[in-house]
Amino acid sequence: MKPAAATRRIIDALVRAHPNADTELHYRTPFELLVATMLSAQSTDARVNLVTPALFARYPDARAMAQASPEDLEPLIVSTGFFRQKARALVGMARGLMAGHDGEVPSDMAALTALPGVGRKTANVVLGHALGVPGLPVDRHVLRVATRIGIADGTDPETVEAQLCGRLPDAMWTLASDVLILHGRRVCRPAPLCDRCAVRASCRHVFTRANDTPRHDSRRVRTARR
Ligand code: SF4
Repeated sequence: MKPAAATRRIIDALVRAHPNADTELHYRTPFELLVATMLSAQSTDARVNLVTPALFARYPDARAMAQASPEDLEPLIVSTGFFRQKARALVGMARGLMAGHDGEVPSDMAALTALPGVGRKTANVVLGHALGVPGLPVDRHVLRVATRIGIADGTDPETVEAQLCGRLPDAMWTLASDVLILHGRRVCRPAPLCDRCAVRASCRHVFTRANDTPRHDSRRVRTARR
């Protein structure tokens, strides 16, 4: 795994490659971001952004959502998938906020993850983007990109989060996650577009695959064999 200085240089290069990286979910308050992030599981940010305007118009805060039943929410979120499970989680989360936090979204990891349906990734999204608390959400894109490049190892999100946080200043955590996610969506896809990659020269995957005759990156292979 690459040392801290190299990790930081790679994240800096990705920040330059993906300027203005941020969550693509639309929200106005921490509550709205919490709801949108919970809805984004097994869905896309674009799909979530289509359903949240009507949902937030009807349930703008925890107080309003806590008084709803899951069945009330289901028609509004059906297109995001797993809508029954998500509706139950959203109402449970809102009731948890009313019961323990006067309806406000708490700004610490333990309190957030104690809410129904809120995992560590969701909590980190809300902490980092809406509450000003450093957080590094690790989703499937962060896992794939970081381990390919060689700035993290393993398949456990919490382990990868700890590895990245340990090598980056906390002021970079949220942005690091944002640029790794964008890089994973645009360039380092499951079939990676290495010819377009800003960190190709530092990438462990390219080096490894070049020695393994990668099919996705024939130009690199030809260069390596000269
Ligand atoms: S060089 Fe290829 S595998 Fe490495 S980060 Fe870039 S796109 Fe991903």
